Amino acid sequence: MRWEELRSPVSFLKQQLSTVACEQTLRAYESYWEREGKPISETIDRAGTPWLKMFDRFGRRIDEILFPPEYWTLLKHGYKEGIVWRAFEEKSLVSSYLLGYLTSFYDPGLYCPYTVSLSTAVPLEKYGAESVKARFLPELLKRDDTVWQGATWMTEVKGGSDLGAAVETIAKPAGDRWLLTGEKYFASNAGAELAVVAARPEGAPKNVRGLALFLLPKYRQDGSLNYTIRRLKDKIATRSVPTGEVELKESEAYLLGKAEGGVYLILEVLNLSRVANSVASVAVAQRALADALSFAQQRTAFGKPIIEHSLLRRQFEDRATQLESAFALAWEAVTLLDRVWREQSPYSEQYHLFRLVAHLAKYWTAELAAQTAKWGMEVYGGIGTLAEFGMDRWLREAMILSIWEGTPHRQMLDGLEVMERKGAHRLLLQHLAPWADPKAVREMEARIEAHLKLALEEKEAQIERLFRDLASFTARVLRSKLK
Ligand SMILES: Cc1cc2nc3c(=O)[nH]c(=O)nc-3n(C[C@H](O)[C@H](O)[C@H](O)COP(=O)(O)OP(=O)(O)OC[C@H]3O[C@@H](n4cnc5c(N)ncnc54)[C@H](O)[C@@H]3O)c2cc1C
Repeated sequence: MRWEELRSPVSFLKQQLSTVACEQTLRAYESYWEREGKPISETIDRAGTPWLKMFDRFGRRIDEILFPPEYWTLLKHGYKEGIVWRAFEEKSLVSSYLLGYLTSFYDPGLYCPYTVSLSTAVPLEKYGAESVKARFLPELLKRDDTVWQGATWMTEVKGGSDLGAAVETIAKPAGDRWLLTGEKYFASNAGAELAVVAARPEGAPKNVRGLALFLLPKYRQDGSLNYTIRRLKDKIATRSVPTGEVELKESEAYLLGKAEGGVYLILEVLNLSRVANSVASVAVAQRALADALSFAQQRTAFGKPIIEHSLLRRQFEDRATQLESAFALAWEAVTLLDRVWREQSPYSEQYHLFRLVAHLAKYWTAELAAQTAKWGMEVYGGIGTLAEFGMDRWLREAMILSIWEGTPHRQMLDGLEVMERKGAHRLLLQHLAPWADPKAVREMEARIEAHLKLALEEKEAQIERLFRDLASFTARVLRSKLK
């Protein structure tokens, strides 16, 4: 890799991919970030949690989030460039994920509102009743400042991993809509005009199959607030998206799809955001590497720039190769998702292949982002630990990337499930075969098959090493596919 390419996300993408969709738009978007976006983003990060103005002067509940005006300009810019509308116009997710890569190079937290808006628009378009779609979808696809935002609220106070047990929000039918009552404990993009929300229709089983997905507008039909924000979370990073605790009290909502089988819709929403998270993680790793490079080229020790010392140089070379492999894995998840995102249950084999690749990518790229950011801080030495130079930010951001959208444990266990129940490892190894060493493929298959024969406790207890090796193997093979 030409190291200078690390400084620009568009140059990196061009080096990795034979063709880059909407290149002109990407170039303009990158210039905007360099010119105006960067300082706004840095200020928002430094400022910490925004204020929540809960009441107006007359005591009426308004729940307004007080970001500075520049935040809204920055945020709306990505929507205007097409991070959501292009998916529907182009009937492909590729441009959206490319724009997401660029956004995340500068501000991974800002990619969250875009991701959850896309993850609201897609199930609305696929599963919404025609009247609901006609009323709300065009608002999410607007190309100007009046565009609406979406959000995806599943997690409650009892935990996000085991949604089947932890979701206590209840949905009661009320004519053409439903009334939802409950609390969402981690609600990113709080303040959004629309959200997709997991809830349990009254009387449904108390497991994951009893969950359904609903579209919840910010305002009721009578114009009053449909949900309230109890408080905003004070987070270590992703400060460019407000994450709150949201209260629902007989809140009006519209069922998406059927009341039974909502778990499939919830997983489809998660798929979109896990792939976005993978793309964002690689971009953060690139950013940390780029910042470390520019420092190492100028900092001198023992008579020369530190980059010219052989140990550091070799580490850079190795990390640049790891970055390319992780990008190839994340991009394979994008490519496969682009083929299956229109599917509905029962899904094709290609969908199961995608799911395994998405779990591997979410896990592996987030690990890479955290490791690269930690290492970047070490390259900066002591000043890497000081907030004023910005390297600390990539480590803070990376730590959130590995937890939200499902922790590493969740990715491993869900990956194990799709291998066991759908034979996804065989689909993956067939998929990789044209670029892989046949002996390595046979050995990996034998290892996975032997693992699947273990007793349940051991199968879970021992999954980490196998999953890690499968992820790094897949990433390496896919890198040679891209080359
Ligand atoms: C900044 C931020 C924003 C977020 N925004 C949203 C949002 O907008 N919408 C939303 O729905 N959620 C959101 N989340 C929640 C996020 O999805 C959850 O944090 C995540 O799913 C994990 O759930 P949890 O934190 O409740 O941990 P828990 O589910 O309580 O898990 C705790 C630990 O136990 C581990 N664990 C659980 N089960 C097992 C098992 N079977 N085997 C081994 N280990 C296990 C987990 O991996 C984790 O390490 C957000 C989180 C953060 C940090």
